[in-house]
Amino acid sequence: MENQNGTLVTLSPCVSVVKRVEAFCRIEGDSGHYRFILIFGYIMLWSVNIKYLRMRHATCAILLVVLLINTICGQEGQKPLPIIDMHLHALPSNYMGPAPLAFCLPTKQWPLKEFDKPYKETFVAWEKDPLSIDPDCENPIWSLTSDAEIMIKTFEIMKKRNIIGVTSGPLTKVYQKENPERIIPGLMFDLMHSKISIDSLKALFSKGEFEVFGEITNQYSGIEPDDIRFQEYLKVAAEMNIPVGIHMGPGPPGIAYVNSPNYRGSLHDPLLLEEVLIKFPDLRIYISHAGWPMIDNLLALLWTHPQVYVDIGVIVYALPPKEFHKFLQRIVEAGFGNRVMFGSDQMVWPETLEISVRTIENAPYLTEPEKRNILYNNAARFLNLSKETIEKHHKMK
Ligand SMILES: [Zn+2]
Repeated sequence: MENQNGTLVTLSPCVSVVKRVEAFCRIEGDSGHYRFILIFGYIMLWSVNIKYLRMRHATCAILLVVLLINTICGQEGQKPLPIIDMHLHALPSNYMGPAPLAFCLPTKQWPLKEFDKPYKETFVAWEKDPLSIDPDCENPIWSLTSDAEIMIKTFEIMKKRNIIGVTSGPLTKVYQKENPERIIPGLMFDLMHSKISIDSLKALFSKGEFEVFGEITNQYSGIEPDDIRFQEYLKVAAEMNIPVGIHMGPGPPGIAYVNSPNYRGSLHDPLLLEEVLIKFPDLRIYISHAGWPMIDNLLALLWTHPQVYVDIGVIVYALPPKEFHKFLQRIVEAGFGNRVMFGSDQMVWPETLEISVRTIENAPYLTEPEKRNILYNNAARFLNLSKETIEKHHKMK
């Protein structure tokens, strides 16, 4: 082809335009479609006058039209398969401490106690000025500074990746009102601090105020899962067939020295669930954070109690990646991949939702069916979703 001076040029300027248009048209949602229609219309008008244009322009126009048709057809034909996030939160921006807070990902090293000052100071510096603690933390993820921003960003990712979330936290109702199709309401609960009696638990569930009893965070108060006071709640959950999600696994590193003095590492142990499982054999229960790092005890539990599921909230993005993958791979290779459910635990860092999905999608040791089981099918079975609901999830845009 020739340029205006009559010399030969390559197609590269055209290719770069094509790439830009392609990126432009890949914007998700309705605005992407409107833009597509506008661009398409413009190119059609342009093409009417094609005989007056040089060959270079004509070729560009044809390429763009073909590409845009492909793009729109591709979008229509490839709706993202649904994902269920069993561990989503609706939290105010200051819930974890004054925003913004940093998260160094991928994690290479956790903060350690400096013996000339309280650990809490180191912990706060790690969140506020991470480079001062971890020289590798050059590009931390920063939490968003308003409740609305967190919600908007969370829904943006949920819509883009077709995620439905079991959601708990103080803003659950707000999230549910904003986008009822994507929120399965959970009930966050801590025996020491929540003022929810057994009767109100029954009433709230009967009224449809929540569908999953969780996340239960008794571990932060040093309460074992078979605590006699908590067993009353589990009894009701078993009787009313309420799915239960209980935190057993990592809180923030060293949190016993920050704001949860009763938090104990021994409560990560999944085998602590055994007595309540035997006592309430119909209980539908999953372990949030999968009891990391107690893999042997987890496998013993999954072996002995086939009703138990796990979610991979927070460990999927916060652990050093090799450690997470070793942990998940052991569960799957031991034959329990059909009881692992995707969870993000995005808290005040919505971006971690996308990172978490990608971590599963890119796990080299998982087959495509295993990925789908983790991302959707296991949770759909655990939650006992109807055929209609599953079909609806697959059609959601
Ligand atoms: Zn959580």
